[in-house]
Amino acid sequence: MLQDRDEIAVVGGGPAGLAAAEVLGEAGRAVTVYERMPSVARKLLIAGRGGLNITHGEARAAFLARYHPAGVLDAAIAAFPPEALRDWCAELGEPTFVGSSGRVFPQSFKASPLLRAWLARLDGLGVRIRTRHRLTGLAGGLRFETPDGPLETRPRATLLALGGASWPRLGSDGRWVPLLEGLGVAVAPLRPANAGFAVAWSALFRERFSGAPLKRVALTCEGTTVRGEAVITDFGLEGGAVYALSRIAREAIAARGGARLLVDLRPDLTRETLARRLSGTRTGDSAATRLRKAAGLPPVAAGLLREAAGAALPADPGALAGLIKAAPLTLTASAPIERAISTAGGVRLDALDGRSMLRARPGLFLAGEMLDWEAPTGGYLLQGAIAGGRATAAGMLDWLREAGG
Ligand SMILES: Cc1cc2nc3c(=O)[nH]c(=O)nc-3n(C[C@H](O)[C@H](O)[C@H](O)COP(=O)(O)OP(=O)(O)OC[C@H]3O[C@@H](n4cnc5c(N)ncnc54)[C@H](O)[C@@H]3O)c2cc1C
Repeated sequence: MLQDRDEIAVVGGGPAGLAAAEVLGEAGRAVTVYERMPSVARKLLIAGRGGLNITHGEARAAFLARYHPAGVLDAAIAAFPPEALRDWCAELGEPTFVGSSGRVFPQSFKASPLLRAWLARLDGLGVRIRTRHRLTGLAGGLRFETPDGPLETRPRATLLALGGASWPRLGSDGRWVPLLEGLGVAVAPLRPANAGFAVAWSALFRERFSGAPLKRVALTCEGTTVRGEAVITDFGLEGGAVYALSRIAREAIAARGGARLLVDLRPDLTRETLARRLSGTRTGDSAATRLRKAAGLPPVAAGLLREAAGAALPADPGALAGLIKAAPLTLTASAPIERAISTAGGVRLDALDGRSMLRARPGLFLAGEMLDWEAPTGGYLLQGAIAGGRATAAGMLDWLREAGG
């Protein structure tokens, strides 16, 4: 078996692991990053494909309230807030801007220039990156499968940032769960977060409207309302507004087998206004024509109302307006975790001390999406992973100093 001599091992080369390696490298520590894929940060690169939303510009209290459980990342984000993340991007040659929705993007919109500059900085700090190294064992030292055979290393301290289990082809596949459970560490089941949901559409609706967007709608689930966009899919519903409700809907499905979703197709108009406008349409018009003329609704909206009514649309303007404001759908299951943007569940927070070190294993620290916290899309995930990785590295440095070196 090959042997490596590491002072510090960071396992997992996603944003959390790289952020930790940067802090440790800046402190003059000898750091090796082990990554199972042929290159690091593949999820960060995919995140950049549609525009890298790296953080959010909203006020601090509202920003922190996005994370669940409450308070989970308060200290990490206080130490590396969105403004610090934006300065960091600018230092790496990628200044950012705040979009109209408050979302923050690099000016290039892309992840690849930022990642290139970040890796160059890490190289300058002497951080070694070893790709194609899959962590396979934690008992005693760290064991890796590598193209050259098994490798074992016994670093002074280790930081695991192995991600969740969504989009597993990018590297994070959740196969670390039994490794940690083997150390007696409690892990909450990995579940899809920021995911779509199944709806039992009729064959006709699915065929005609799969892929159609529902723009500027308001969705309500379990008393929480979110405005935004949704998309009809073969499976059910996806899109930003659906993702934002995914924790609430997932928990309702787990408790009762289904979640009721109310779709308001015209959140900017009251029911009374809609009813008045509908009464002004010609009785001879088809329902779809009345909906288009009176409420400006596209054919997909008329189709959705029929799905919700489970029958012909009501002729009475008041009843039809009520349906437009609150069309009921039943979400029956979450999309599989492979198709989710992120992962809920993970290593339980009470398994960690205040420095994100495992109580069961002194010297083993954790960061990023593998921990049991979740957040909506909007830049909160990357801010959480990067700030969390940095905070865990700072905790490790404290621990190393206390341990005498
Ligand atoms: C399509 C998509 C779009 C997204 N868009 C955004 C966005 O715009 N904004 C935003 O904030 N977030 C976005 N996210 C989420 C964001 O990318 C993740 O939350 C973030 O990457 C998590 O960082 P992490 O370092 O904790 O985990 P990861 O990025 O998953 O990194 C973990 C790393 O560990 C490696 N690894 C896993 N197991 C092992 C092992 N056994 N041995 C060695 N290495 C291992 C993996 O290969 C991976 O490189 C998006 C995600 C997806 C899928």
